[in-house]
Formats: sequence, C-alpha cells, structure tokens
Amino acid sequence: MNRPELRISSNAFRTNIAAVRARIAPSALMLVLKDDAYGHGLGWAVETAVEAGVSWFGSYDVRGGVRVRRIVGGDARILAWATSTDDEIDEALAHDLDLGVGTADYLRRVIARAEILGRRARVHLKIDTGLHRNGILPDEWAAAIAEVREAEVRGHLTLAGVWSHIAEASDADDDASRLVFLDAVRVAGEAGVSPDVLHLTASAASWWRPELRGSVSRIGAFCYGIRSADGPELDGIRPVASLCAVVSEVVGGDAVVGVGSFDGLPSTLRDASVGTPAGARRLRAIGETTSIVEGWSGMRPGDEVTIFGDGRSGEVSATTLAERIDTVGEEILTRLSPRVRRVIVD
Ligand SMILES: *Cc1c(COP(=O)(O)O)cnc(C)c1O
Repeated sequence: MNRPELRISSNAFRTNIAAVRARIAPSALMLVLKDDAYGHGLGWAVETAVEAGVSWFGSYDVRGGVRVRRIVGGDARILAWATSTDDEIDEALAHDLDLGVGTADYLRRVIARAEILGRRARVHLKIDTGLHRNGILPDEWAAAIAEVREAEVRGHLTLAGVWSHIAEASDADDDASRLVFLDAVRVAGEAGVSPDVLHLTASAASWWRPELRGSVSRIGAFCYGIRSADGPELDGIRPVASLCAVVSEVVGGDAVVGVGSFDGLPSTLRDASVGTPAGARRLRAIGETTSIVEGWSGMRPGDEVTIFGDGRSGEVSATTLAERIDTVGEEILTRLSPRVRRVIVD
C-alpha cells in the first residue's frame, strides 16, 4: 500500500444508523448523502443503508438523487433540494424524486415541467425560518401555498412535505425557527393543503432537541460517526471511516508516512496527535505526499499510522482534528482527494 487508505466500516455505519433511529423514533431517518456521502462513497452508503431498512434519502442534487434511485429501485423516497435546471427537473420527475423547493420561481418551474410531462411532482416546500439560505420568506409563504394548492387541484403537484433548515447553534434561535415553521404549517393547513411529512432538524437538533423533530429527520453527520464540533461524544455512535497510511522510511527518531496535503490532509494539522502501533504520537510535519510522525521503539517501514479514526490505535476522530483548525469533521473527510483509496473493511 503506497497510497493512503480510507477504511470504511459498514458495521459501524449500521450501528450508528440503528442508534440514530432508536434515538429519534418515531421520527423517521432521512439519510443525507451530499458530498459523496460525506466522502465515504455514495454507492456503498446507499446499499448499506437500504439493508439496514432506511427508506428516506437526502441527496442534495438531482444527479445524486438519480444515482440513489438506480441503486434502491422503486420504493425508497429520495429528496433532492438543490434548485435545479428545467432539464434536471425533468430527470427528477422521470426518476420519481421528491423535490425540495425554496423559491417561488423554482416552484413555478417545477409546476410547469410537471404539466408539460404530464406528471405529478412531489414537492417539499421550504420556509425560511431565519437562516436566509434558500427558503420562502414568511411574508411570501401564503402566496406560495396558494400556488401549490392550485397546482394540486390541477393535478400537477402534491405537497409531500414542509421543511426548513435551522442553525443548530443556539437553542433560542432554534426555538424561534420552530415557531416560524409551525406557523407555516398552520397557514398551509388553513389553505387546505396537508403535507405528509414535516422536517426541520439535522443531526444535532434531532439528537438533542426532541421537541423540534418533525415526522422525518434529515441526518448525515451522526450516521457517519461525525460528532458536532465542540459537541459531546454520542452514546452508541462511532466514526465509520479511518484514514491510514504506511511508514515508508525511518529517519532519525521519526517515521516518514505516505500521506500528505496532496491527499487532502490540511497542512495546518501539524502537531496533531495520530495513532501508531505504540499509541498516540505527534504529527511533526505535513508535506505534499508524506508526513513526519514522532517515532516509537521498534518502528519499521510497513508499520501503519492512523491519522483519524475510532481511537483503537490512539488516534483521535476527524472532528477532534477539525476542532484544532476551527472547522467541522465533515470538512476533513470531504476534502480527502481521489488519491486516497476507499476500502470497505467489514
Ligand atoms: C447537510 C444537511 C443536512 C444534514 O446535516 P448533518 O448535520 O450532517 O446531519 C440536513 N439538511 C440539509 C438541508 C443539509 O444541507
């Protein structure tokens, strides 16, 4: 092995999914798959999750959603929430995707394409509850709902869901978002449209704030074993992926290992702690394709170093590394380059 490996544990993924589902029940898990399943590989994630009984998938864009549909076949529900081109809308309708819609213009385009294709679009209408990242503003919500209602009557659309995305940064902000959300649901109901599902929360709020959970929870990070930055460890959740590299040379008292910034390892992680056969050691320097790790007695070429993982060789998690450089665990995983070989270990 010359190239570093990202070792991926299906067992850990299944265990995490089970822990998340137990925690959030009766809210249903929508497994979020953006960024190639947070760097773990979309195909593997979907196949493993389907075996585990997951029936809702969040793909971000239509292209990813179509990939998910090809793997899961007919039954599962797949939500693509990126605002898409007309061609993508056609693709989504052809593959029976649910569309997340956060602007009036996009809503009209979805309705128009459904009418032309003679299909009924399943739409999840997004209310902006304060994050100002896509979403119908509260002032414009009633008008959008009226358009939804008309398109439902004409047979071009079903309002499958009402949803929003919240900051998960402070309880007070999230509580305020919830009130805006509930008001949007009320306005929809009074206009005679009743969505099947409501979803507001991602990993952290789904886990910690049961009162904010809807009938579905959109969860990525915790299923992959990525805890929140500056958040606590989670019962029953462990990292799914470990980044491993091999010692190529011993120089002085240090080990040269085959992983570096070209593999997506941020060079700012210098001085972080990594796992070795003798336990935790310091990552002294990060080069382009190799790094220097503080040595241990008996080290030799071929020994393995774990940059991040579940702690079994003394390494820390991707989130703990991320905290050193003020980012989130997802970022460490999704930055890994294609040079890193993905290997499913169990
Ligand atoms: C990424 C994302 C999620 C999942 O967030 P996690 O914190 O990884 O669980 C949910 N909803 C939307 C809209 C997202 O973009």
